[in-house]
Parts: sequence; C-alpha cells; structure tokens
Amino acid sequence: MGNVCGTSTAALAVVGRRARELRALLPHTGSIHVWGHDLWSGGWCACSGCRRLSPSDQALRVGNAVAAGAGVDVFHLAYHDTIAPPTTVRPDPGVVAEFAPRERCYGHALDDATCAVNLRYRAALEAHLALFEGRVDVFEYYGDAILFGGCAVPLLEVIARDLDFYAHAGVRGVSCLVFGTYSLSAYGANVEAFARGALAPGAARAAAATRCAHRYGAAAPAMASYLAALERVMAGVVQYGDVLLPAREHRPAARSAYATAVRELADLGALLTAAPHLAAERALLDYTVAVVATLAAWLGADPERDAVLADAIRRIAALDPSVVGTWGAYNLEMTHGFFANARRESRAPAAD
Ligand SMILES: [Zn+2]
Ligand SMILES: [Zn+2]
Repeated sequence: MGNVCGTSTAALAVVGRRARELRALLPHTGSIHVWGHDLWSGGWCACSGCRRLSPSDQALRVGNAVAAGAGVDVFHLAYHDTIAPPTTVRPDPGVVAEFAPRERCYGHALDDATCAVNLRYRAALEAHLALFEGRVDVFEYYGDAILFGGCAVPLLEVIARDLDFYAHAGVRGVSCLVFGTYSLSAYGANVEAFARGALAPGAARAAAATRCAHRYGAAAPAMASYLAALERVMAGVVQYGDVLLPAREHRPAARSAYATAVRELADLGALLTAAPHLAAERALLDYTVAVVATLAAWLGADPERDAVLADAIRRIAALDPSVVGTWGAYNLEMTHGFFANARRESRAPAAD
C-alpha cells in the first residue's frame, strides 16, 4: 500500500481529473485536502523519476495536480515524513500548507530556543511560510488522546505561547485535533485555552481560571493549582512523541524523564480537593500514573506493569459516558493494544 507516483504524468492526470469531477459533484466545497498515507517512510514512490524527490516534493506534485483548475484551496499536508519543506517543487498558487507538527516537543513552546526538537520544527514552519508565501495553516494536537496516551496533560502555558508565536509568524489559522467527549474531559483546559487563544492569543492564559470556575465551582483555585502542578510534571513526559511509545532516538532521555515524573506524580493526589467531578479527576490521575509508571518500566527494560495498566484502563472505561465518551469506553483499550504490540516489536529500548 502506498501513494501515487509523483512523477507519472498519466497518474497525476487521473488524480487531477478525479479531483475536478469531485469538485463538480460538490460545488460548495471550500477546500480540498490531499493527504498521503499516514506512514513514516516507504509510502512514497521509488521509481527512477521519484527516487530523487523527497516525500514532501512528491506530495506537493500531487497537490499541484489537484490544484490545477480546482478553483478552491488545496491543502498539502506537512506531517510525519512530509514535515520538511519541499525543495525542488514550487506550490501552485492554489496550494496551502497544512503544518501538522505531531512529533514536536509539547514540554516547550514551539518557539522556545532552549528546545532543540522544536527549533527544527520552527525552522520547518518558517520555510513553509516562505515557500507558500504565507499560505500556511497549522494543525495542532493539544487534545490528542492517542499522542498523549489518554493521560492528563494540561498545556496551558505552551498553548498560550504557541498561539502568540503562530500569529506573529504569519500563520493564517490554527486548528486542533480533539477526540470528542474524552478530549473535553482529559484536555478540557487545553480546548478552552485553544478556543480562546485562537481568537486572541493573549486570552489563552485566562482559560485555566475560567475552566476551573465553570467546572469546579468553589474548588476552582485549588484545582487551578493542581492543573498547574500537573502541567509542570507532565511537561517532562510529553517531549518524545507518542507517550505510549517514545521515539527511538529519544528513549535514553525519556527513560530518566519518565522515572522522574513517576516520583513527582505521586505527590499530586494530595492536591486534588473535594470538587465536582472529583472521581473522574482522580481516575484520570491514577490512570496517568499507571501509564507513566508502565512506560518508565519498559524504558528501563523492567517488566511492564500490565495488570496495573489494565485496571487503570478499566476504571477509565467505567466512568460515566458523559465524562469519557465512546473513546474512553472503547477506543482507549484498543489504542493500548496497538501500542503494546509496537513496544513488543521494539525491544531493548534503553540500549538503543
Ligand atoms: Zn514514481
Ligand atoms: Zn522541548
């Protein structure tokens, strides 16, 4: 399974013709997204014509073919192995870059000069802004229950600073992936910060107080302190890609970061106070502790704590559907199955 050949004139003509037919069927469509297969590598063509082209170059050639005569914005996805800007292909004026930095570091803002990971993503964003002459939207992951393994991850400071940076960098717009009801519970403060900050970046920082006042009533100040403490601890965990499978090159660093987080998370339960939704907040914290401890064990080449993790997943799934939605009730367990398999196939993590 893979993507269309990026240099076959005949193949690109078919793609362009089909796009125009689709456009005729849906005359009110405002834009077309052309996204390649969600693969890290191997999804693009290796024929003699394409071999010299990067995945980004190949993807943009497809986007350009769709844009010819489309009459609407066509989105080129910068994501996974297309996050680097195209180098040998220029975008059609109708093509817009959708910059989706999923493997960036969420422990630091994108423009934090102390973060080597994000420096690379910032450079990639700025190169897209130049190449696409400002036609760049950002797709963010502040509510991504898969990326964060369903763990509680407040990102209020990062979101506020990111959105300010994106606005000043000249990004046209920012969207944010959410997983329905589950994201509103586990990442509710992030969603509030994003919604406020997308309109006015300066308003993002007030989201914690507003969210806590609405959700926790008189316990709002105490819960705001809890969220701030949780944000500081989890900032150490969300720097390495998927929480449930840190990127291979980051595993030595992740090993000590996860171990530190396990110790610090142990103190946070005492900050949870009598408040509405307390049972859900506690289950989410316990689940987060179980996940981070399980991964810390795996990164340290210790046996995984399968029983502890399975129990924590069951407790999340048993919460009221209005709190966890279908994602928490069903998809969370499936997600764990996927990542557990991936970890089994990726042995000796600490020695990498
Ligand atoms: Zn090819
Ligand atoms: Zn960082």
